[in-house]
Amino acid sequence: MPVPSMTLAYIGMGANLGEALASLKQAAAELACVPGISALRLSRFYSSAPVDSSGPDYVNAVAAIETALDADALLAVLQKIEQDHGRLRPYRNAPRTLDLDLLLYGDQEINEPHLIVPHPRMHERAFVLRPLAELAPPTLRLRQGSLAALLDACANQKLQLI
Ligand code: AMP
Repeated sequence: MPVPSMTLAYIGMGANLGEALASLKQAAAELACVPGISALRLSRFYSSAPVDSSGPDYVNAVAAIETALDADALLAVLQKIEQDHGRLRPYRNAPRTLDLDLLLYGDQEINEPHLIVPHPRMHERAFVLRPLAELAPPTLRLRQGSLAALLDACANQKLQLI
C-alpha cells in the first residue's frame, strides 16, 4: 500500500474556563491518539489576559503535528475534540472550555467559508506566535512577515510563561 504523504500542521490551543491547563494537556493527548496524526510536539504553556473578550486569563499553547489527514478532516477532528470538552459548559454562551484553531497546514493557503489558513489573526497574536516560535523553524514566514518581525511587532502584549 502506498504511504500517505504527511503534512506538517500547527494547531493553536486556548482555554479560559475550568481547569484550563488540564484541558489543553488532555486535548493534546487526544490529538496525539487520532489515526492519521503523529509526531505531536507541544510548546510550553502561556497565560494572557483575554483579547476581545472578558473572563479569566487564557492558557495557550501550540501543537505541531505530522498528519495524513487533509485540512478539512483535520478541522473536523479539532471541532470534535472542542465539542467533547464543551460538554462542561456551565451556561449558554459561556466562554469555551477549549478553542482549537488550525494555524498552518503545510504551506497551503485555504480560503473557504468554513476554513481560512493561515489562520487570519495568528500574525498579530503573541499568545500564538510565542509558542509557535518554540516549534517552527526560524525561517518561517507568513504573508505579513517573518516570525521574528511579527513577534517584535506584538512584543507589548503581556504573556506569562506558566
Ligand atoms: P472560533 O470561534 O475561533 O472557534 O471559530 C470557529 C469557526 O471558525 C468555525 O466555524 C470554523 O469553521 C471557522 N474557521 C475558519 N478558519 C478556521 C481555522 N483556520 N481554524 C479553526 N476554525 C476556523
